[in-house]
Amino acid sequence: MTTPLIDHLERELGEREAAGLLRVRRVIESAQGPRVHVDGRELVAFASNDYLGLAAHPAVIAAAHRALDRYGVGAGASPMVCGHFAPHDALEDALADFVQPCANARALTFSTGYLANLAILSTLAGRDDAIFADRLNHACLNDGALLSRAHFVRYPHGDVDRLDAALRSTPARRRIIATDAVFSMDGEIAPLARLAALAEEHDAWLVVDDAHGFGVLGSAEAPGRGSLARAGLRSERIVYMGTLGKAAGVAGAFVAAHEAVIETLVQRARPYIYSTAAPPALAAALLASLELIRHDRARHAHLHALIARFRDRAKALPWTLLPSATAIQPIVLGNNALALDLAALLCSRGFLVPAIRPPTVPVGTARLRVSLSAAHTAADVDALLDALSEIARHEGVREPSMRAAAT
Ligand code: PMP
Repeated sequence: MTTPLIDHLERELGEREAAGLLRVRRVIESAQGPRVHVDGRELVAFASNDYLGLAAHPAVIAAAHRALDRYGVGAGASPMVCGHFAPHDALEDALADFVQPCANARALTFSTGYLANLAILSTLAGRDDAIFADRLNHACLNDGALLSRAHFVRYPHGDVDRLDAALRSTPARRRIIATDAVFSMDGEIAPLARLAALAEEHDAWLVVDDAHGFGVLGSAEAPGRGSLARAGLRSERIVYMGTLGKAAGVAGAFVAAHEAVIETLVQRARPYIYSTAAPPALAAALLASLELIRHDRARHAHLHALIARFRDRAKALPWTLLPSATAIQPIVLGNNALALDLAALLCSRGFLVPAIRPPTVPVGTARLRVSLSAAHTAADVDALLDALSEIARHEGVREPSMRAAAT
């Protein structure tokens, strides 16, 4: 006999499954990389955010080993108590020096990007303030806005005019524009220069979440420095958040901004103050990974050559390839069942590509999210495209309408 409480949850789970929305975790039995072991099989994975192939890089692993021997495993406390170690401090200096969002910038590290976004928005904004957010922003920017209790305005994706109008009419004391720099399920780059101009015009902060741009995008002089460098932007109004578990290959995140912003976070950000610091060995691994991001230009060039190669051939597929210049290359199918079918067919051919469904993406836009890494070879990319072309030819999955609509 189960209680009505359990019955209710089980009914909800059943409904999810019937709608093609059940999420299932795969158990990975090897290191992160272009080939992973799942259920005793080796799959070529186009599924992780390890865009530069640093998650299992020997120099990064060696740095972690050395730091484990010296500092042990756990940080033991919040950074404010006794959890802020020498590698954390050195990493913050190195990140501020690399990203330089403005003069007198400092950086602050967090154990996850999710926490960093909660910290930024709940510290900078309060009840009398307003946060203006792109509708396709990542869930943790939305959650940070809710936690802040500020007035929360979501503008239509990329619609700078609507944002302008909303900023014009707000009575809020403090205004914050928050945007993903690279939209995580689309790969599209936000119009950062125009957003920065609006922030200037309306005396607002601009919070930039560069989870998928840091390490991947940059300028000719500094590949990997991120979306601000790509757009040539520096401003005291910008609060930059980069994650360290994606292109940097390790874990965690950082905020880089004017020293007054960083000191405010240190003093007041509850997700920073009331949470145990990340293990110092991770910060040491990140120092090694940052060296590779800064100096291994061939790695960047290879990733961008793979992106161009993928896009060139994927154009011929009968599905919609979104216009993305980043390592995220989504193929939109529309229908949940079709996305799941295609992911299963790819899996049976030895490829791991995730099917992304609502609520992660808007209803009716289920997709395969192909993510490329500098650890892939051109032959890996060609093999995936061959498999996709073959599926399109033989499996009768060209038209979403041919399948039961499950969205
Ligand atoms: N922002 C964006 C745009 C993301 O895609 C993610 C993670 N998927 C995060 C923030 C959260 O970062 P983390 O995984 O380090 O918590």
